[in-house]
Amino acid sequence: MLDPGHGGNDPGAVSPDYKEKDLALKLSKKIVNELLPYQCQVKLTRKMDLSLSLSNRAQLANSLNADLFVSIHINAGGGTGFESFIHPDAPELTRQYRNIVHSRVVSYLGGYQITDRGQKSADFAVLRLTKMPAILLENLFIDNSKDISFLTYEPFLAGLSNSIAAGIAASLDIPLRENPWDPAWEIAQLQADRIINTPRLPEAYVSWGELATVLNRVREVPPPDPVNWDPEGEIDLLIRDKILNTAQKASSTSLWGEFATVLNRLRNRTVTPDNWDPPAEIEALVADRLLMMAREPSASLNWGEFATVLNRYRGTGG
Ligand SMILES: [Zn+2]
Repeated sequence: MLDPGHGGNDPGAVSPDYKEKDLALKLSKKIVNELLPYQCQVKLTRKMDLSLSLSNRAQLANSLNADLFVSIHINAGGGTGFESFIHPDAPELTRQYRNIVHSRVVSYLGGYQITDRGQKSADFAVLRLTKMPAILLENLFIDNSKDISFLTYEPFLAGLSNSIAAGIAASLDIPLRENPWDPAWEIAQLQADRIINTPRLPEAYVSWGELATVLNRVREVPPPDPVNWDPEGEIDLLIRDKILNTAQKASSTSLWGEFATVLNRLRNRTVTPDNWDPPAEIEALVADRLLMMAREPSASLNWGEFATVLNRYRGTGG
């Protein structure tokens, strides 16, 4: 159970431009993605910006009988670096798990000369109320200019989430999946979350009308016509919101370079603001681990790959 700290009317620590609740959620979703290759089920206490009491977070983990609870926070108060917490009365197993996760993270952070503030204990409610081993991570300082520049640098976040995930997998001794990629399952997740209404074949190509509709549902923009599907209207919404610059034919197949570009705009990842550079757009997806291997920009986008990248972006892949 991953627990993105704060949320809703509790922003956590704040700096002029950032809120802890947002950074904690973003980092948590990336950790979910990094755990995809492992044979485990990962749950989040919150998937969006909502208020959740500390006792509810612990109850969620307790009711699911989770094996491990990891609460994700960003520090504040004038310091710098990383520290981890367990409860002062935590059993030996919790100490072992924390030691493994902590070591993985500081070995990654060492490459950036980021301070290890140490392994600490505190009587935090989520650590006290959870029945399983529970760890709380304070990932750098939101009010330190050097720390925040790391926390807002996507390749750094990708590596940080990877090191936390690797620590979790190592502490629980979770094996890798034999076949980590299951495109049909990824498409089924889109259907389960009502992002698509009918199943698609993994090898079928994604049309521009479908692409626009799916992206609008993911970003929770109401459809242009609530009753009848209006693919052209969906494309217009992308143009209206500057996610797409020029109109595309709704029935035409979308290409990898185009998909990467609109997804990067949707996630506010500015790659090539002036001169469009499709390979660079695709590389940004690889750098952020939404995609494992670069694709030809002119290759057609199929449903299996589309669903997989989208689920990683949504933080709900499996
Ligand atoms: Zn916090």
